[in-house]
Amino acid sequence: APLVFDFSEGDRTQVDLLGGKGANLAEMTKLGLPVPPGFTVTTEACRYYLERGEEPQSLRVQITMALRRLENDLGRRLGDVVDPLLVSVRSGAKHSMPGMMETVLNVGLNDYSVKGLAEAAQDERFAWDSYRRLIQMFGRTVLDIPAERFEHELDAVKARAGVATDVEIPVPALIELVEEFKHIVHDATGRDFPQDPREQLDLAMRAVFNSWNTDRARLYRRRERIQHDLGTAVNICAMVFGNLGETSGTGVCFTRDPASGQPGVYGDYLSNAQGEDVVAGIRNTLTLEDFAALDPSSHAELTRIMRRLETHYRDLCDIEFTVERGKLWMLQTRVGKRTAAAAFRIATQLVDERLITSDEALARVTGHQLAQLMFPQFDVDAERTLLTRGMAASPGAAVGKVVFDSATAVAWAARGESVMLVRRETNPDDLEGMIAATGVLTSRGGKTSHAAVVARGMGRTCVCGAEEIEVDLAARTLSVNGTQVAEGEVLSIDGSTGEVFAGELPVVASPVVIYLEQGLDAALAEADEQTGELVRSVDRLLRHADQARQLRVRANADTAEDATRARDMGAEGIGLCRTEHMFLGERRVLIERLILADGPEARDAALAELLPLQRADFVALLEAMDGLPTTIRLLDPPLHEFLPDRTELAVRVAVAQATGRGEEPEVEKDVTLLAAVDRLHESNPMLGLRGVRLGLSVPGLFAMQVRAIASAAADRIAAGGRPVVEIMVPLVGSVMELHLIRDEMDAVLAEVASAAGVDLHIPIGTMIELPRAALTARRIAEAAEFFSFGTNDLTQTTWGFSRDDVEASIFATYLDKGVFTVSPFESLDRDGVGALIRMAVQAGREVRPDIKLGICGEHGGDPDSVHFFHDAGLDYVSCSAFRVPVARLEAGRAAL
Ligand code: PEP
Ligand code: MG
Repeated sequence: APLVFDFSEGDRTQVDLLGGKGANLAEMTKLGLPVPPGFTVTTEACRYYLERGEEPQSLRVQITMALRRLENDLGRRLGDVVDPLLVSVRSGAKHSMPGMMETVLNVGLNDYSVKGLAEAAQDERFAWDSYRRLIQMFGRTVLDIPAERFEHELDAVKARAGVATDVEIPVPALIELVEEFKHIVHDATGRDFPQDPREQLDLAMRAVFNSWNTDRARLYRRRERIQHDLGTAVNICAMVFGNLGETSGTGVCFTRDPASGQPGVYGDYLSNAQGEDVVAGIRNTLTLEDFAALDPSSHAELTRIMRRLETHYRDLCDIEFTVERGKLWMLQTRVGKRTAAAAFRIATQLVDERLITSDEALARVTGHQLAQLMFPQFDVDAERTLLTRGMAASPGAAVGKVVFDSATAVAWAARGESVMLVRRETNPDDLEGMIAATGVLTSRGGKTSHAAVVARGMGRTCVCGAEEIEVDLAARTLSVNGTQVAEGEVLSIDGSTGEVFAGELPVVASPVVIYLEQGLDAALAEADEQTGELVRSVDRLLRHADQARQLRVRANADTAEDATRARDMGAEGIGLCRTEHMFLGERRVLIERLILADGPEARDAALAELLPLQRADFVALLEAMDGLPTTIRLLDPPLHEFLPDRTELAVRVAVAQATGRGEEPEVEKDVTLLAAVDRLHESNPMLGLRGVRLGLSVPGLFAMQVRAIASAAADRIAAGGRPVVEIMVPLVGSVMELHLIRDEMDAVLAEVASAAGVDLHIPIGTMIELPRAALTARRIAEAAEFFSFGTNDLTQTTWGFSRDDVEASIFATYLDKGVFTVSPFESLDRDGVGALIRMAVQAGREVRPDIKLGICGEHGGDPDSVHFFHDAGLDYVSCSAFRVPVARLEAGRAAL
């Protein structure tokens, strides 16, 4: 198979094989644009080399032939002594990885061809400067010589010559510099700088291959979720020179503004310079208007080409170009990266310009981009001091005074302070503190840790697992990399990047959220022209997505307040109400009483006290969701989560007993409590007494909840409402569990309905969150009117990964070693967990054709996972309120 493609052979569809740069150079060549001739070595050759440590056998010959064609076309030979052909050797992967990999320019220069170049260009300075650049770049990237060694020498030569800039170095000093550079190479490698042009080319190509695996390239891919096994293509291209005097130059331009999406071309130009100089910011660049004044004909041609490329690609293009003595050359183009705001604006602009359809526009924006637009952000211009970095758990920008416990958070927030709750890790008892705080920062735990899940649910900014932070609760300080922060001092966290900053950074609010919460008119009233266009564009694309999508989108919401926000965000129901969140705060004593009950009477009394509270919660929830389906889940977490901390309690009891207070009633209560804590203690509570197991073990508990739900529905009907409620049983692994619990539930439902004299249609379904449930879905469907996939637990139990621990302990290693490119808790593992879901979907529909199928794990709001759920044929996804718009958009995109 060919491993080398001439630029005239490929096109832009071949990005897998030719990389982005190679494919687009081929496309521009096909369009007849002025691209210097050259060829591309495929990613396949790179993969072969990276696997085996040597190039495929036939590659050498194929390069020889491609090079010969190039030489014949141009009538010049690589590294010839007269008018030599020089080439650039550039990386170019499928996905652009700006600045991550290597480039070597001016390949082909040696002690002889440098003179030929001087002669041909009629410019000795230029030739020797090009030669010294080659040795410098080659030395650094191919031979791994520290860059400082060359830079140091360059500075020394400038000092000796008494000049300030590179361009002023006189020719004799440049010739001397080349000699010095050659010495550096010999000194560092024990070999001379290779004089054979072909050897230069082969080594440069190999260095580009190797640069695929540098630490920074791997890190970049990990962050951008690019696979590690793609490899890069290598583009070998005839050199054109922007540094041949004042009629030459080099530039970068965009067909629209990639930062704001504003129409109109943007760019920078630098005369008498080579590519790197523009990016390196050595000299101040000119605008395109200045360029037009300087070289009207090249500028006119560039403008024509930009228009041509934009109509051809039908998208924002970014372009690198060079002018060599008044002749324009295109060195690169690609569909340009852009900010989230620019993506939305440009997509709708192109619809209005009739370049693309609304479907295409929808395909061009992503849920990730919409999410970015929704969170308040730190003012980019502000000065900042980075303290440390944790995991980006829940996006946003939060500033607050540090507090170390929930009670302080609540107290300070109540007096109007903005607080940052800092904990080693959070537990359900911190909920009030999390609600009160503007931001949550933990030093332990991953993206599905309690803190992260809850924070995302509330749209609370959260950075978790910032392991460098040491919290000293006793001293009420934290220390991080040598900095101490006391309670009351201010920190700023960026939940989109995981960064933690000292002090207060200024924050700006999101107009998109104003739009979602208060409607288009309200948002437009506050917006300037550009922001207004952005908000309109979001509105148009979201509405288009709503028309296109087949998936319904519900929200995970536990309170009436959450539910109202979810409706604002466009939720079409609640897919998961976690009732455990209603058992916290002052109600905890009631649960305590239930757990400590010494007989059926005491237990029933405790349940009877809980009943009206739950009923009132559900009335409020159903009122907020009137007319929309609301899935309420029965209690899931292990009971010990509602009891005090074991160590704390044990210490308290021990101290009391040691000081002779053992007989006091308070202490006796603590002793009983401690016994209960010990009794309920589990080594592995996630796999223990929770979910339906709890319902079957604690008589009356689920019945109380079902009664509260049914009565709430009856109350709503009596009040003229339209409650649409569904009851969900968690952690079912066997149909037998469901049958047993249903018997009890059906009886309660019937009893409430007849007592209230209303018809209650309350379907009962189950979560599918254990592999056994998926594997026996056929049986389970006999007793379940709906399935809701609990992909958090299903991922945990399928992989055997503890969702609270592994992200901090092993995921960094796994991501680095490429076991996966993204945490399976964040984006659904299609091959494993996904296979179980597909299996259960099929089995469920076979047994019960009208079964309703949804998903309510964290994946419900993850853009990639939404596409999977669409493909798997689910009826709905359910996610936290703030991710509802993201899910709507992605569900629409999935249906295109
Ligand atoms: C799940 O397991 O995916 C789920 C939604 O339930 P929870 O996160 O409450 O365990
Ligand atoms: Mg679960």
